[in-house]
Amino acid sequence: MNREHLLELAEKYGSPLYVYDTAIIARQYERIMNAFADVPHIQLNYAVKALSNINILRFFKQLNSGLDTVSIQEVQLGLTAGFDPSQIIYTPNGVSLDEIEAVAAKGVQINIDNLSILELFGQKHPDIPVCIRINPHIMAGGNSKISVGHIDSKFGISIHQVPHIHRVVENTGMNINGIHMHTGSDILDIDTFIRATEILFDVAHQFKNINFIDFGSGFKVPYKEGDICTDIEQLGVQLSERFNTFCKKYGKDIALMFEPGKFLVSEAGYFLSKVNVVKQTTSTVFAGVDSGFNHLIRPMMYNSYHHISNLSNPEGRDRYYSVVGYICETDTFGSNRRIAEISEGDVLCFKNAGAYCFSMASNYNSRYRPAEVMIHDTKDFLIRRRETFEDLLQHQDLVDL
Ligand SMILES: *Cc1c(COP(=O)(O)O)cnc(C)c1O
Repeated sequence: MNREHLLELAEKYGSPLYVYDTAIIARQYERIMNAFADVPHIQLNYAVKALSNINILRFFKQLNSGLDTVSIQEVQLGLTAGFDPSQIIYTPNGVSLDEIEAVAAKGVQINIDNLSILELFGQKHPDIPVCIRINPHIMAGGNSKISVGHIDSKFGISIHQVPHIHRVVENTGMNINGIHMHTGSDILDIDTFIRATEILFDVAHQFKNINFIDFGSGFKVPYKEGDICTDIEQLGVQLSERFNTFCKKYGKDIALMFEPGKFLVSEAGYFLSKVNVVKQTTSTVFAGVDSGFNHLIRPMMYNSYHHISNLSNPEGRDRYYSVVGYICETDTFGSNRRIAEISEGDVLCFKNAGAYCFSMASNYNSRYRPAEVMIHDTKDFLIRRRETFEDLLQHQDLVDL
């Protein structure tokens, strides 16, 4: 997206504003599909939690993507967006048996990640096939808060407990139709990832009715110029061959699945925010914008980097700024950033704002959540209007005091 276009959108829809470009989503989707073109049956299930606007989900439907969901509400969003239940996989962690049963009743593929639920579910519904989430105890991700495959992680059934899974399957007569892992975000080391996949192949060989292996996600995207990211093409070369070999040995062409969130939508998103104040202090110059961690929490939550540029002054001399939000707590988007000289009223653009940005936004400080705009076929569409004061009070009931 070019600068002028983004500025026009900020003008037209106001700020703060999220903008998503479907062309970039399609590009990323095709990159994975092309990397795995040698696998006869490949299926991508977009991880809804990254960006869950229903129009984005409908766009994924057009791409022939399935969905990866972690709550019954995400399942409902997917169904509302027009997905068939068979295109949805549900991978909850720590949710109640009631919710899992309710999702299974809709015909959605269930993925179970603990032994006690597996046993309860198998006893009550031996006829509903389930996928099992294995924890291979391989640390593939970056930040410890987003690495979920290591030994202390709460996710998945430990690889060391596979004998126990067999016992549950025998005792209940249930059927395991898929094997899954998701080792965490920001994978850089393909060899480590491949080691985890080998573990899954071993597990899959132990079950007779596997229809798919789901290797999760965690593909890293670039955040700055020259940043390293998951080499998806290289992963395609290495994993496709192993997968096809597995299928031959297994005696069936099963599906290879991934469930990327960030890889598909991160770079498609731009967050636009206007500068309210420029404040010189003894140590730095602050640029304070009309937003905060209520709208984009990733920098405060896990130190994520979002490139920030000044759309309003492209020719300006570069200066150093700390870009901060208006929340009445430490609320830093970026420190010591080199940005073209900022004046009050300028519009700043935060990159990589497609994944885990709006979907984590809140009304903290009683602020409205931003509007969302989708660029599709070069046209712009408002896909979520900016909230209003009525929205803040919508669910509150007045009682007589
Ligand atoms: C969050 C999540 C994903 C998506 O992870 P990304 O790093 O955004 O690609 C995939 N699968 C499961 C089970 C998840 O919880």
